[in-house]
Amino acid sequence: MIVVMQTGVAQAQIDHVVQLVRDAGLREHVIVGTERTVIAVVGDERKLELGALENAGGVDRVMPVLAPYKVASREVKREPSVIPLGNGTAVGGKRIGLIAGPCSVESRQQLIEIAHAVKEAGAIGLRGGAFKPRTNPYQFQGLGEKGLEMLAEAREATGLAVVTEVMGVDQVELVSRYADVLQIGTRNMHNFNLLVACGQTKRSVLLKRGWSATLDEFLLAAEYILNAGNPNVILCERGIRTHETYVRNTLPLAIIPAVKRESHLPILIDPSQGTGHAYMVPAMCRASIAAGADGLIVEVHADPEHALTDGAQSITPEVFAQTVRECARIAEAVGRTT
Ligand code: PEP
Ligand code: MN
Repeated sequence: MIVVMQTGVAQAQIDHVVQLVRDAGLREHVIVGTERTVIAVVGDERKLELGALENAGGVDRVMPVLAPYKVASREVKREPSVIPLGNGTAVGGKRIGLIAGPCSVESRQQLIEIAHAVKEAGAIGLRGGAFKPRTNPYQFQGLGEKGLEMLAEAREATGLAVVTEVMGVDQVELVSRYADVLQIGTRNMHNFNLLVACGQTKRSVLLKRGWSATLDEFLLAAEYILNAGNPNVILCERGIRTHETYVRNTLPLAIIPAVKRESHLPILIDPSQGTGHAYMVPAMCRASIAAGADGLIVEVHADPEHALTDGAQSITPEVFAQTVRECARIAEAVGRTT
């Protein structure tokens, strides 16, 4: 942290700030310039509310220099993390991780049919919500445990890893029994109790970015899971809220290089929630791979017109297979495989 003092600061004010820094268990390095005096704080500033130094007399500005997260940070671990999905495959290595499936588990037949199709196309994980976080309480809420049983059956049939959402702390035990990867949805990124509860399981966690969260807040949410003892976190960008209306959410692909710079955790892109429209999904899949994403999580439905949730943004298995073929060529161009 750097504390910039005001011009004309008194020595007593500098001494006072130095004392506050020492009281916090840190050390100082005072740099006296011709115009300004700057105090560099040496040591780990993250445990302390040093922003309060702003209140001390003679202080102009306080600027943190360390990222607020630790375990999620590249400063702590330089090499990229490879996160196992639980079925022998992983996300974060050279191979692009493709996870696909319906928004919601609707029926046994629906799920098994899509699972086989996406596996055939090259997916390593099967997505599908059994518990759905719906904005409208009168809409389909998911099949609950029955849906989880169907997911487990689809895993048996295809070998795909099951990725499914856990909506609350009280569901963690149940969902962990069926899922390979626990999905924490965008609405729950700030549910710190849920982050900790998932961090205490042995399952890998797919953490979606809150739709109004900053990158720092996103990585701090990941930090909660890591800090609770679970090293297996996969980040997922699913679009943010903006003033735009031609998309359901605005998909900021610039987060991919930003995450790569700040963190060792892999990042997947969800172009389905990220656009809200099936016709945009293939293009955003291709763009994501080109930009360095570690994989995709895509909503695929054999009959989108009759989907119980998110039909507008669901692509068919045929379109998914074609998109994967296109992504494979892009992956090759950027030194990855599918
Ligand atoms: C979903 O994956 O279907 C979903 C509800 O995602 P999000 O939490 O990103 O809205
Ligand atoms: Mn959905």
